[in-house]
Amino acid sequence: MLSVAEALARVLNDFQPLSSEFVSVENVVGRVLAESISSTLDLPPFVNSSMDGYAVRADDVRAASTRAPISLRVIGDIPAGTNPTLVIEKGNAARIMTGAKLPRGADAVVPVEATDNAQAAIGGVTPDHVSIFESVQAGAYIRSIGEDVRAGDIIFKAGTITRPYDVGALAALGVRRVSVVRRPRVAIFSTGDELVSVDQTPGPGQIRDINTHALSALIKKYGGESLMLGILRDDVNVVHRALMEAVTQKADVIISSAGVSVGAYDVVKSAVERDGSLNFWKVKMRPGKPFAYGKVRGVPFFGLPGNPVSAIVGFEIFVRPALLKLGGYARVEKPILNVVVNETLHSDGRETYLRAIVTRDGEHYAARSAGGQGSNIVSALTRANALLIIPADVTEVKAGERLKAWMLDWSEDAYL
Ligand code: AMP
Ligand code: MG
Repeated sequence: MLSVAEALARVLNDFQPLSSEFVSVENVVGRVLAESISSTLDLPPFVNSSMDGYAVRADDVRAASTRAPISLRVIGDIPAGTNPTLVIEKGNAARIMTGAKLPRGADAVVPVEATDNAQAAIGGVTPDHVSIFESVQAGAYIRSIGEDVRAGDIIFKAGTITRPYDVGALAALGVRRVSVVRRPRVAIFSTGDELVSVDQTPGPGQIRDINTHALSALIKKYGGESLMLGILRDDVNVVHRALMEAVTQKADVIISSAGVSVGAYDVVKSAVERDGSLNFWKVKMRPGKPFAYGKVRGVPFFGLPGNPVSAIVGFEIFVRPALLKLGGYARVEKPILNVVVNETLHSDGRETYLRAIVTRDGEHYAARSAGGQGSNIVSALTRANALLIIPADVTEVKAGERLKAWMLDWSEDAYL
């Protein structure tokens, strides 16, 4: 049986980034850049004031202090957004606002707080003269051309996910359309004669379909779009028809749930093999040993186990990095923390992924079980914020030992 690492290597070998498309800056958050973006201009584009104050020649105010203020003649007013034509000559100053272009002749700004004009009323008239109480160095309180970004600088690298923090920089560069990697289109269906849809009341022996909903949410989380093909009977013809439908609809990936183990009604493998082949269908892991991967008419196919926790963990281990690679992400590894376990844990020697709660404990992170570890126990998943990994061939981990944890949430709501 393949190890998780061997199985993952086989999967990732089949995936390459999809083609690109353009989106407007308004829709770019969460998308992956298909190309690097470099600046065509300098930022700031002109020398400007970083304070409300007076544009001066630093030489003129070299000796200024509170006890010996220096008076300068104010020859004009420069609001932001204007293009000053005046020139500051010896003994002169101009009132200037934050962000306004520095006039010729000036080489520094004295903040208004260091002048006798500090209390100037909003919209107040420009005084004839201003007393300067502090000396400033040449270059003080001015922002130079290109101090932020230089023309030609690469600001964003291909493969990065655009964040809200990046949108402002794109606007500053005048970028309105961005080339991003197309979202993977993922066909998904559940199989199982016992399943009814979420809005039906299950009859005796029936349960509601969990997996199409859970998996579709994960597809979205990792940048894909899901193409829902519904709940199917445990019938090889029905499943085969759905696979063909997915191919016709140009799915980039096909995901099925259930029917991949060794039960009498586990028909998914046979349906795949009618028009494709399986690369593997068992992985040495827990939960989720029955896990099929192959291709149907050239389209990658993942046959996830039916137990909801197995399906979700299998998705995180194999489908997530595959989708991220398709989606052009530069990084496909899950964020990992080294954590100290709070209780003794056991495994049967397969690589094991436990639903866990990771919290901060002083300088380190501590992990405890999130509850029942059965592959049908969905309530433990709702409490978990991490998957705790017991490596293959380890059967016991004692309280106080360290393990790696995959963070499910890596954001404000993880409360770390
Ligand atoms: P199977 O892989 O078909 O042997 O199913 C394993 C277990 O998962 C059984 O208890 C199924 O009832 C359950 N199961 C299968 N599919 C789903 C689903 N879509 N939602 C919830 N449970 C499921
Ligand atoms: Mg079944």
